Amino acid sequence: MKSGKVWLVGAGPGDASLITVKGLDCIRQAQALVYDRLVSAELVQQAPGDCEMYNVGKNPDRHPVPQPQINQLLVDCARRGLNVVRLKGGDPYVFGRGAEEAEALAQAQIPFEVVPGISSAIGGLAYAGIPVTHRDYASGFHVITGHLRQGNEPQDWGQLAKLEGTLVILMGMTQLASICQQLIAGGKPASTPAAVVMHASQQRQKIAAGRLDTLVEQVAAAGLTAPALIVVGNVVNLRECLAFVPEQLPLAVIPPRMLS
Ligand code: SAH
Repeated sequence: MKSGKVWLVGAGPGDASLITVKGLDCIRQAQALVYDRLVSAELVQQAPGDCEMYNVGKNPDRHPVPQPQINQLLVDCARRGLNVVRLKGGDPYVFGRGAEEAEALAQAQIPFEVVPGISSAIGGLAYAGIPVTHRDYASGFHVITGHLRQGNEPQDWGQLAKLEGTLVILMGMTQLASICQQLIAGGKPASTPAAVVMHASQQRQKIAAGRLDTLVEQVAAAGLTAPALIVVGNVVNLRECLAFVPEQLPLAVIPPRMLS
């Protein structure tokens, strides 16, 4: 049987209408949809009625499906001749192990495409009124994970503290206190503006903004938890001027193109 193909699609940061035209097109023609926890239900509902649906963010005992099983599922669905959409939060190659899924497909000689998405690291911050760069405040940015593979060397926050520009930390909430402390110990002034953005770009978005030495307290007071972005740098102050309330727009109606 001719193999199907896999599209690794970025769903964007949360607001369903931030998906790309191509990504939405893929979902609307999917024969199997493999999606995780951070993807909005509105996007999942765009799949055709007869599409096979796999929620790999949660298995029956409420734990995420292990990565090798997800890789195998993608390969198996494609080998059954299905057009498969692997829908991932943000951009498929920004953390979240998208590159490993692509490697598994390449190894199994399954044809695949990547459909980039808006990463929460950039678009999520924008929805919180925080521009990731600004000529006067940040000449660059660094996107860092707070969560490393077990057995890897821990992040050297002391070194990261020396970087100029905005620091955006994903998957860092369980270590927030220690990250802030180590950044200060590494030389970032305690007064550096810092914020946490929870559920960025969704209606339930919540923000705590302050400085490196007050952030932990503010986050606790506001009850913020994962999934959230931690952002450190002077651009955080621009929120006061740049915050906006997004209008809720319906997903665009686009004429479907046939996927090859
Ligand atoms: N590929 C994704 C990131 C996957 S890692 C992207 O490009 O955005 C998952 C982490 O991303 C979460 O733990 C959280 O830190 C961050 N994240 C993703 N979506 C988010 C959202 N809507 N609001 C806040 N943080 C988010």
